[in-house]
Amino acid sequence: MRLVLIGPPGVGKGTYAQAISHQYRIPHISTGDIFREEVKRGSELGRAVKVYLERGLLVPDDIVIEVVKARLSREDCREGFILDGFPRTVQQAEALEAFAPPDLAINFTADDNVIVERLSGRRVCPRCGAIFHVKYMPPRFPGLCDKCGAPLIVRHDDKPEVITERLRVYREQFTPIIEFYEKRRRLVTVVANEQAPQVIPKVIALIEEWRRSRNPS
Ligand code: AMP
Repeated sequence: MRLVLIGPPGVGKGTYAQAISHQYRIPHISTGDIFREEVKRGSELGRAVKVYLERGLLVPDDIVIEVVKARLSREDCREGFILDGFPRTVQQAEALEAFAPPDLAINFTADDNVIVERLSGRRVCPRCGAIFHVKYMPPRFPGLCDKCGAPLIVRHDDKPEVITERLRVYREQFTPIIEFYEKRRRLVTVVANEQAPQVIPKVIALIEEWRRSRNPS
C-alpha cells in the first residue's frame, strides 16, 4: 500500500504516520527527516541541501526526486510506504506517478487555532527525534525525553511568531498537490481537530475502506 500524507504543520501527521506504519508494517519516509539527517552527518547530499533547509526553501526537484526514488527502491518498501513531506511540487507528484504511483493521498486538516495550540506546546528530542506535547503528551519527567533522557527543545519553527507564516507557506505549497490527487480521485480527507487517539482509528477505518473497495469479497 502506497500512501502520501498531506497536512499542515501541527496537524499530527508524524503521529498518524507512525501508527499507520506500525499497523501495516510499511516504512514512514519523511523527506524533511532524511535531509536533516544528511545535514547532521555532513554527507555530500547534506552539504548540497543545507542552504535550502536553513532558509526554509524547497530543495530543487531533481535532488529530491532522486533521493525519494532511491529510498523507495529499497527492500523495506516492497509492500508499500508512507510518504510525508513529498510530493511538494506538481513536478515531484508527476515524477512519483512514473516510478511508484500512490494508492491514496490522505489529506489531514484542522482549524488554525487547534494547530497553533499544538505547535506552540510541542517539544522535540534533539537526540532521538521523539516528539512530546506539554499538555497532550507530556514526558514522564518534565523537559526530558522519555526514550533517551536528553533535554527537550522547542523547534525554532514551532515558535508562535513563525507558525502563522508556516501555515501560509503550507497552503501555497500544498493546494496544487491536494488538487493533483483530488483530480485523480485518490484523495481522502481526515478532519484532525481531535487528539491522536480519536483520529488514528478514523484513519485506519478509511484505509480499510479503501482496501475493501479494492478487494471486494
Ligand atoms: P519538512 O520537515 O517536511 O518541513 O522539511 C524540511 C525542509 O526540507 C523543507 O523546508 C525543505 O527545505 C526540505 N524538503 C523536505 N521535503 C521536500 C520536498 N519534497 N521538496 C523540496 N524540499 C523539501
